[in-house]
Amino acid sequence: MAKTTQRKNGAERQVAMVFDLNKCIGCQTCSVACKVLWTRDEGTDYQWWCTVNTQPGRGHPRDYETMGGGYREGVPQPGRRPTRQEWGGGWDFNYEEVFYGGKGQSVFLHHIGEEPQWGPNWDEDQGAGEYPNAYYFYLPRLCNHCTKPACVEACPRGAMYKREQDGIVLRDENRCRGYQFCLEACPYKKVYFNFLRNVSQQCIGCFPRVEQNVAPACVRQCPGRAVWFGMLDDEGGPVAKLVRKWQVALPLHPEHGTEPNVFYIPPIGPARLNDDGSFDQTTPRIPAEYLETLFGPRVRTALDILQGEMTKTRDGGKSELMDTLIAYWWKDMFKPFDRDPAEIQWK
Ligand code: SF4
Ligand code: SF4
Ligand code: SF4
Repeated sequence: MAKTTQRKNGAERQVAMVFDLNKCIGCQTCSVACKVLWTRDEGTDYQWWCTVNTQPGRGHPRDYETMGGGYREGVPQPGRRPTRQEWGGGWDFNYEEVFYGGKGQSVFLHHIGEEPQWGPNWDEDQGAGEYPNAYYFYLPRLCNHCTKPACVEACPRGAMYKREQDGIVLRDENRCRGYQFCLEACPYKKVYFNFLRNVSQQCIGCFPRVEQNVAPACVRQCPGRAVWFGMLDDEGGPVAKLVRKWQVALPLHPEHGTEPNVFYIPPIGPARLNDDGSFDQTTPRIPAEYLETLFGPRVRTALDILQGEMTKTRDGGKSELMDTLIAYWWKDMFKPFDRDPAEIQWK
C-alpha cells in the first residue's frame, strides 16, 4: 500500500466523483458493490456507505436534511446524531428456518423481530407531483470527502484526517473513542456508528483501490455509465471538465459550507403533458425550485447549459459536453483509475 500522508484539514490534490442523475437508473449496484466489499462484518450490517434514494423523499437516514451540522458563514453549526430507527436496516431474517429447518416450501423468507420502520431505500419510486405529471429521480449518496470536512474538525481525538495525496477523508480507528461528534457535525449524515466496536465508520473512498489506480467499487460497477471519477485538477479529465469547465456538475446542499467533492448533473426529466396529451415544452416536469433546494441557485444555469448543448446536437452540431456525458468508452470515465482489479495482487 502506498505511503499515507496525513494533514488534519487539507489536501494537495483531490479526487472527485460526478453522478449524472439523468443516467442513474436506481439499480443500487453501487450500493451493493460497496456493501459486499466493505460492510459485511457484524456491527456494519446496517451500514450502507453508498445509498441511492428516490427524490423527492425523506432520504437515509430518515429526514437527514433536518439534522443540522456543517457551517454557516464559516461557523460550525449544531447537529444531531441519527437514531438507529432513523437509519433502519440491519434486520434479522429467518434464515435458520428456511435453509436448515427441513420445512421445504412451507416456509418463506421474512424478517423477524421488531417491525422495520425505515431503511436505506424505504421510499423508492414514490416521488411527488400528480398524474400524469408525477416525477422522481434517483440520488446516489456517499461521503463527499469534503474539502472542509466538518467531521474532521469536530473530532477531539484527531482520529479523522484528510489525506494530502488525494483528499480522501479517513479515520484512525485506534484513536476513535466513539464520541460520535463526527456524526453530529456531518450535515450529510454519512457517518455510521459501529455499536459492537464502539467506533464511527464511513466510506473510505476505496483508498486501497485508488492507490492502485483502480476506481472505487461504486464507480466501476455502475452499469449505467452514470459516474465519473478522477482528480479535480486533471484539466483534461471528464470530472474537471464537468465541474470546472462546463459547470454543470454541482455539489449537494452547498449551503452547508463543507465543499463536497461528490457532484451531480441535475436531472432534466421528461416533458410535462398537457390535458390533451400533447407535450408542454414550457414548464419543466421537475420543478427548478425543488432542484434549487438540493443544488443551490447555480442549478438553473446548469440546466440551461445542458438544454442548450442538447439542442445543438439535435440540430446536427457537435458538443464536447454531450460526448462526455454519453461516455462512449467506459475507460475514459475514470482514467487513470481504469486498472482491472483482477490484475492486482491484493495484500
Ligand atoms: Fe465528513 Fe460528512 Fe463531508 Fe464525509 S460528507 S467528509 S463525513 S462532513
Ligand atoms: Fe463504498 Fe468505496 Fe464507494 Fe466509498 S468509494 S461508497 S467505500 S464503494
Ligand atoms: Fe445509479 Fe449507477 Fe448506482 Fe445504478 S449503479 S444506482 S445506475 S449510480
